[in-house]
Amino acid sequence: MPKKTAAANRKKFLADLKASLVDMKAKLLAEIDSELKAEREGNKDEGMDTYDLASEERDREINFILSDRERVKSKQIDDALERMEEGSYGVCESCGLEIAEERLDAMPFTRLCRDCQQDQEREAKSQRRFEDERNTYRKIGSTDADEENI
Ligand SMILES: [Zn+2]
Repeated sequence: MPKKTAAANRKKFLADLKASLVDMKAKLLAEIDSELKAEREGNKDEGMDTYDLASEERDREINFILSDRERVKSKQIDDALERMEEGSYGVCESCGLEIAEERLDAMPFTRLCRDCQQDQEREAKSQRRFEDERNTYRKIGSTDADEENI
């Protein structure tokens, strides 16, 4: 029953990946916590114990101090974990096929398989080329109507 084995392997792979994402998130939070503490030390008028803060207030503070990079990363981890809960994680959003494990290992936040990603990049590139050409046509005085007649 090779198919069943593959499914079980996939399940194990996703469980491992989930554990590493949870770990990543914990490290990120620890990093943020130490930044918070450093912030506190430079500001001695405030209370001594960061952890006495109501969690809502603490969340607000974390959001305030969080850099964009940390915020994006934290959001990406949360999104990935959420998709794991729903069972939609690791499935290409474009073609619906399973994303290769090597790819998920390297880029755990990707939502597209390699083929679809390449298609999308190619499309974006040709879209840019098209825009460039249009701009060039405009510069030499061609109009939209002319292009439609080609
Ligand atoms: Zn795909």
